Amino acid sequence: MSKIKYIIFFAILAFSAGQLLAWGPTGHRVVAQIAYDNLNCRARHRVDRVLGKHGIIYWSTWADNIKSDTIYPESYDWHFQDLDSGLSDSAVLAAMTHYPTVGGNLFRAMDSLVNLLRHDPGNVDALRFLIHIASDRFCPMHMGHLEDLGGNTIRFDWFKQPYNLHRLWDEGIINAVGYSYTEYANYLEDRFADQKKAIRRMSDGELLLHNYRLTEQIYAYQQEWNGNPYVYVYRFAPDMEWQLYAAGIRLAKLLNEIYG
Ligand SMILES: [Zn+2]
Repeated sequence: MSKIKYIIFFAILAFSAGQLLAWGPTGHRVVAQIAYDNLNCRARHRVDRVLGKHGIIYWSTWADNIKSDTIYPESYDWHFQDLDSGLSDSAVLAAMTHYPTVGGNLFRAMDSLVNLLRHDPGNVDALRFLIHIASDRFCPMHMGHLEDLGGNTIRFDWFKQPYNLHRLWDEGIINAVGYSYTEYANYLEDRFADQKKAIRRMSDGELLLHNYRLTEQIYAYQQEWNGNPYVYVYRFAPDMEWQLYAAGIRLAKLLNEIYG
């Protein structure tokens, strides 16, 4: 290969890798954009003052990025709470208040961050964490099973690339649909507008049970899926999109309560 061909080859490689990395956070930005659009005037003004204009969107992935630093090592397990399969409704709901000692710390982190911000709404890092963790709790595989690390050890090919179930729900389906975060937020706000009031009225427990039942369906579907990614997207994109929308509406509700 000539030198110029090498340069072009590696330039294409770097571009492709950059795109893969850049698309991962789309889900968090979709949720943050929907939340931002649903903040009342006072809350939006105050949240902008803490995070900068539209900062809720730009900082929505910071809690993942900070894992590469050493300043908040205790936050590594705030992003998930693994739950066993076959739990009763009451057992699932108990996890929200009794904080299981294994498989993550999402519920405790949520409560601590909300309490902290109620007393100290200008706490920048607490708000940066909250806008992310409040979104992660709507991602089904962040409540997966401990034995497979929330789907991380369930591997298969996805569009001919090695993939796993956790990553599929973090970004694989979103990327396959192919919208930018603003396009996706606009689309979901149109599509689910008639459900906004109902989602606002649901309790945290009802939303958790909804997420848990979806997680159970996702695990069960692994047994019957034929491996075709188009079939998977057709089956599950509507469920994932409802989760994204509900996450945005509920994040707005929470921030309206704290800052509105
Ligand atoms: Zn996360």
